[in-house]
Amino acid sequence: MTLVTQHAALSDIGLHRQTNEDSYVAAPPLFVVCDGMGGAEAGEVASAIAVETMAARFAAGDALVAAARAANEAVFARASARVEESGMGTTLTAVMVDGEEGRFVHVGDSRAYRLREGRLELLSDDHTLVGEMVREGRLTVEEAAVHPHRSILSRALGTEATVQVDEFTTDLRPGDVLLLCSDGLSGEVPDDGLRDLLAAHDDPTEAAAGLIDAARAAGGHDNITAVVIRLLAGDEDGMVESEGSTQVLAVPAGAADAGLEGDGESDPAPEPAPVEPSAGGVAPVVPAGSAASSPARRRLALLVAVLALVALLGVAGVVVVNTCYFVGVDDGQLAVYSGLPWSLGPLDLHSVYLRSARPYVLLDAQQQALVDARGVRTKDGALRLAEDLGMLP
Ligand code: MG
Repeated sequence: MTLVTQHAALSDIGLHRQTNEDSYVAAPPLFVVCDGMGGAEAGEVASAIAVETMAARFAAGDALVAAARAANEAVFARASARVEESGMGTTLTAVMVDGEEGRFVHVGDSRAYRLREGRLELLSDDHTLVGEMVREGRLTVEEAAVHPHRSILSRALGTEATVQVDEFTTDLRPGDVLLLCSDGLSGEVPDDGLRDLLAAHDDPTEAAAGLIDAARAAGGHDNITAVVIRLLAGDEDGMVESEGSTQVLAVPAGAADAGLEGDGESDPAPEPAPVEPSAGGVAPVVPAGSAASSPARRRLALLVAVLALVALLGVAGVVVVNTCYFVGVDDGQLAVYSGLPWSLGPLDLHSVYLRSARPYVLLDAQQQALVDARGVRTKDGALRLAEDLGMLP
């Protein structure tokens, strides 16, 4: 019996991050997820270098573990050469579908799962401090899932000259589904939820979209990447035996390039949708083929709704900025602000209306408490307070 794969790969920036530091490769028979870390843009760089190197070395004939070690060296070399990228690193979880076997390499806290007959099995160990504590019996899985230091890695790719790479294999059967994901998915959606979503959708694209939606609905605190690989029985030519409604999608991303396409024997995929690797290694989300039209429509509807909301907020914002004022501190000196005393991510909902030369530290405790409260006032109210605080000449 020949096994063939259908797959989909999606990555989403989430709701709280400014950049997507995850990268992935979906180029049968190789699938990789990397979740970068490091200051500034370094995490993006690390994960992009890792997927690029991993895929290139694999295509050149390296064994998986050798390709992973080469990826480690490439990230480490780059981090050592540039001070602004020193210390950067990435997770790496990869599988090669090899006949009736899945061969994995793994470093970090991205995860590999296998769904079989409704049961989800976590195949990889989390290389995190709390993961080590769970394996040593010092924490339960439930305690680890909410531990404040759960994201501290005990092992990463690219942070040292050499790395210990986990290798493992699992048998594969028709009907099995493999999931590779970053912790932006597994950290938000419990295993039961992952299982239910994978089991609910035969179409890998719908499954991947459902997983991303669930992680966003659960808070979307981190970048979210899901690679879903479904195994089907194929005939001698590697074609799917029972025609399903599913469509094979290949979405190379991150630093993936044309050299990453599969050999065509183990995957009955039509030509992958061409995807330009986006700047910075952010994995683009590109619907391809008819199977993706429903998620695409959903995304379009969502986009329209978001734009309408933004327009509404814009009008509300103009009204608010022109009617709300508060007294605060700008660079140690008292100031009257127009707008609201909050920020939405990088966007301040206020600007300085009037800056005074009076330092905050000269106020008495009661006055400081008044300023600290940043209470919203009318313009007259804020100016009266400014006068009381000795801010006005
Ligand atoms: Mg992450």
